[in-house]
Amino acid sequence: MKAKLTYRVLAKLPHAALVLAILCLMTILCFLFPEVLTTPEVRRSLPIPLIRQILQGTILTSVFFALAGYLTSKKAKLCLGALLIQLIVLFLGGADVPIKDEFSDARFQLGLDWFVLDIFLLALIFIPLEGLFPLNRLQKIMRPEIKVDLTYFAVGHLGIQLLAALTQKPAQIWFNGLGTIPWTPYVQSLPIVLQVLMALFISDFIQYWLHRAFHETKLWEFHKIHHSIKTLDWLAGSRLHLVDILIVRTIVYFSILLVGLKSEAFWGYLSVMAMQTVLIHSNLGLNFGWLEHIFTTPRYHHWHHHDRPIAYNKNYAVHFPVIDKIFGTQYLPKKEWPSAYGIEEKNYPESYLGQLLYPIKRLLK
Ligand SMILES: [Zn+2]
Repeated sequence: MKAKLTYRVLAKLPHAALVLAILCLMTILCFLFPEVLTTPEVRRSLPIPLIRQILQGTILTSVFFALAGYLTSKKAKLCLGALLIQLIVLFLGGADVPIKDEFSDARFQLGLDWFVLDIFLLALIFIPLEGLFPLNRLQKIMRPEIKVDLTYFAVGHLGIQLLAALTQKPAQIWFNGLGTIPWTPYVQSLPIVLQVLMALFISDFIQYWLHRAFHETKLWEFHKIHHSIKTLDWLAGSRLHLVDILIVRTIVYFSILLVGLKSEAFWGYLSVMAMQTVLIHSNLGLNFGWLEHIFTTPRYHHWHHHDRPIAYNKNYAVHFPVIDKIFGTQYLPKKEWPSAYGIEEKNYPESYLGQLLYPIKRLLK
């Protein structure tokens, strides 16, 4: 058993070395070209000395993995690729890479900093968790469809600035005209935890009806993409059509601004919302007991992705299962997990572009 685990870890070293090397190179590029590759909001909140230390540690880990992988596995090319990228990283300055002090931002920036930061943190949390407590023990990190889901993740993160501008515009126009919201001082006097819970509940209630509309009207053509995935893990929730993202985010953002939260509560809400969205799609077979009636868990949301009619149009809630309970859309058999995920439709496109255009073609037919 122990030998099997050691073999499994060793077999993953070349892939890990290469992925870490690519992330190091991307970080270096963010340092060299901040005006086009980083977003001011993310950049401002980053502690640069800490980032340099993490970069140093990641370079060393990647090189160590590449050397160990070269000696113990058959994937020599991946290891040599990782070492070559690390040579380029060192040539460009490594963890001491200079950072531009003065520059003016380009009109639009790619959120490469946000992409590197988020994928690094999520991978650091969820890859070990999914390895220790897997639902499907045989599922690999490099599972089928991983490339298309990474593309969704990349588009959502690199295009963060454009997506944020589009989804926040209606709220900005409305609230500038409205001025101060009368209940803001009262809401902001509440404890932060209460403000976060309130935001989560209001957003989940609104999201519930939007999610239902995406399932039960012609909007299903767009949301079907999210359900076309056959393997669930921490990256699976990224698979969303741009129309789905734009409609849901615009309306939810609008409603959250209407609550009038303190900025700490707003960031708290965003963090919990983002982490729970990743968690409920993950390949985690943990039993949360009675808690799964209070907060949405992986088992709860996995039923939402079940490929059989018995679970269609059920479990819409992302945070609070009670919303499904109230509106009669809850389906949660005791302790069981769904046997498979996906949609019944055959020949569904598998590429990012194919999936982006498919709903539009279907609706124009
Ligand atoms: Zn759905």
